[in-house]
Amino acid sequence: MRHITRVEQVPVPGWVYHWPRCECGWTGDIVRTPVLAELQITEHHDDQFEQPSLFD
Ligand SMILES: [Zn+2]
Repeated sequence: MRHITRVEQVPVPGWVYHWPRCECGWTGDIVRTPVLAELQITEHHDDQFEQPSLFD
């Protein structure tokens, strides 16, 4: 399973929300900033790829 993520912009009056999604079917919470969206993507990938040697 490949995890190709993207952050969709969700315009609302006066603001744009950010919605992280992944091609595996996962969707995150709609949040106010792209940083929060990226954080969710990072956590999603951490859940999917357990690589204890990642930080050697
Ligand atoms: Zn995924």
